[in-house]
Amino acid sequence: MTRGLLIVVSGASGTGKGTVCKKILTDLPEVAYSISATTRTPRPGEVDGREYYFLSVDEFKAWIADEKFLEYAEVYGNFYGTPLNKIEERLNRGEDILLEIDVQGALNVKRKCPEGIYIFLLPPSLEELKRRIEGRGTESPESLSRRLKNAVAEIKIGLEYDYVVVNDSVDKAVAEIKSILTAERLKVARNADKFKLGEDFK
Ligand code: 5GP
Repeated sequence: MTRGLLIVVSGASGTGKGTVCKKILTDLPEVAYSISATTRTPRPGEVDGREYYFLSVDEFKAWIADEKFLEYAEVYGNFYGTPLNKIEERLNRGEDILLEIDVQGALNVKRKCPEGIYIFLLPPSLEELKRRIEGRGTESPESLSRRLKNAVAEIKIGLEYDYVVVNDSVDKAVAEIKSILTAERLKVARNADKFKLGEDFK
């Protein structure tokens, strides 16, 4: 059985990673989404156990103490974490798992799982990123400038990823990620079992 792919996607806020990841999950039913836990309050339309497991700070700390996280980080004043949730067993069963997490979390996962596929999404430009964050209409001027400063710092960390995809069009970004996954699935290191073919001719 070929081990599944651990796919980790990050990008600064406003890069559109949510939209891109949703399309990947719709187009590739073999890829399962890893539902994170968070202490932030649900946004309208978000459902506990679907977008996130919404926890209190105390509950989150209890999960940390019980070693239930593969990684966790504080992002914009809230905690976010990837539940272990049998990820290892699921990968061994051949399931592909997609994590959409921030750069701190991704680097922690990379240390533990170097065989994962680390994809960094970039906005087409900083001006476009600013326009997208402003366009949400939810940010105060202070919050906007904080998010932009953060975005620049996060983009630098993107240099540690394996792949970079510029999200100037969702369809193009999705197509590029699919190409990455196709190439990764064809790596010799992931397909040792196929080479058993030669053993019939010994
Ligand atoms: P949002 O609150 O907008 O859903 O997410 C805020 C940030 O937290 C995003 O950059 C998102 O990728 C990140 N995030 C979501 N889940 C996790 C997680 O499990 N771990 C980490 N480290 N970051 C996460």
